[in-house]
Amino acid sequence: MKNALKQDLENIGEILENVKNHSLDFLHQLHDLPTYATDQQIVPAMLQTEGLGAEKCLEFFKETYQKLIVASTGPRFWGFVTGGATPAAIAGDWLTATFDQNTQSTKGTGDVSAIIERETIRFLCQLFDLPEQFNGGFVTGATMSNFTGLAVGRQWAGSKLGIDISKSGMSSDIVVMSATPHSSVIKSLSMLGFGSNNLLKIETLDSREAMDVADLEVKLIAQHGKPVIVSCSAGTVNTVDFDDIAAIVRLKEKYDFWLHIDAAFGGFAACSPEHKHLLKGWEHADSITIDCHKWMNVPYDSAVILVKNEHARLQVETFQNTNAPYLGDPSENFSYLNFLPENSRRFRALPAWFSLIAYGKSGFQSVVENSIARANELRAYIEQSESFELAAPVRLNVVGFRLKDLKADLGAFLTSLNEGGKVFMTPTTLQGKACIRAAFVNFRTTSEDVKIAIQALEETVIANESPVS
Ligand SMILES: *Cc1c(COP(=O)(O)O)cnc(C)c1O
Repeated sequence: MKNALKQDLENIGEILENVKNHSLDFLHQLHDLPTYATDQQIVPAMLQTEGLGAEKCLEFFKETYQKLIVASTGPRFWGFVTGGATPAAIAGDWLTATFDQNTQSTKGTGDVSAIIERETIRFLCQLFDLPEQFNGGFVTGATMSNFTGLAVGRQWAGSKLGIDISKSGMSSDIVVMSATPHSSVIKSLSMLGFGSNNLLKIETLDSREAMDVADLEVKLIAQHGKPVIVSCSAGTVNTVDFDDIAAIVRLKEKYDFWLHIDAAFGGFAACSPEHKHLLKGWEHADSITIDCHKWMNVPYDSAVILVKNEHARLQVETFQNTNAPYLGDPSENFSYLNFLPENSRRFRALPAWFSLIAYGKSGFQSVVENSIARANELRAYIEQSESFELAAPVRLNVVGFRLKDLKADLGAFLTSLNEGGKVFMTPTTLQGKACIRAAFVNFRTTSEDVKIAIQALEETVIANESPVS
């Protein structure tokens, strides 16, 4: 073993102590750290023959790159749908690296991590009030969840045509329909051989992103029995609009399609008694996508795909890694190796397991309700503001708004707001008009943070006012 590595092993206690203190410094400063780095230049370095060792490496990182890290895990990063990391989730994530398990089988490898992963999936079903009829697993993000759910849907559709697509290849007779799919659903269609151009778009309701279910029925009838996959949105990113799942489920009884629900962050509405009606009927889905690194506030690299137990055989056909025949009850002889895209996998469930045990159902209810309350504080401000107006109703935890002065350059306004580093938001387009959206999912966000953001908005309005001529 080379010297630096040998010394590091002897000094592991000090190294971790330093990392702990360094992490604490970051977390304690998080509230005031900028949400934007104007300087993103790094000086290209050369890989050295002799290593520095972990402690000097940490010093080097601190001096050179740390200042470029933005507070995206902090309370005022409202761009995209960006969650933070709770203390329990950080603890679980740290231990995931320490234990360094390869999470595959519930049997035979002497490793309990896959059993804990299945337990975590059961806890999540309980959190969401879903029946425990889903085989679930952790993947890297909702993009991979959508990919996995649609892949099993593809295998189901093939079976309707009498084809084993995993063995024989793709059929062009399968139809995928959606109204306002997330971009990652389109990307999945590319990756799965459907072709992203071949999505059959369902009309949306007037001034909404939700599916027009009457149009869905018309388009289902027009397929004359071709197998169909319907990909629903349970929470669009722009306006958090929900497809009417209960109505779609009624059509499913009539026309028998694969129902995939992208509930990446909207699934967490189930944690709030006041909002869980938005997901009514979702237990009838064939596959459901849930992101853990958004509203669950688990560090990145964490999402779940739930697939109905009854489709276990199709799921194994899709992802089977070995040539061994499918061996009966998956709970008896279960290996993620044959259920999900990845083979070797980290112990990805552990941060979520820690969070669920640490905070329980009431903890997640309060995280979700806090986000919704903060979103409504910003909404209330926008509604009475002289400079801004809402661009869409606030249905859950996202506020879409624009400048009242439609001649103003919204892009320049947003850049200038973001560069201030107090709050970060992202642009989007609603009904053909540019607007700004603020998404609330971070558990740290308080009313005080909303006030800081409002002040930043007002200062940016003044700074961007054209000089009076
Ligand atoms: C974020 C998101 C995705 C993609 O998730 P990643 O975790 O970025 O892969 C898919 N669908 C919806 C609705 C999302 O909000």
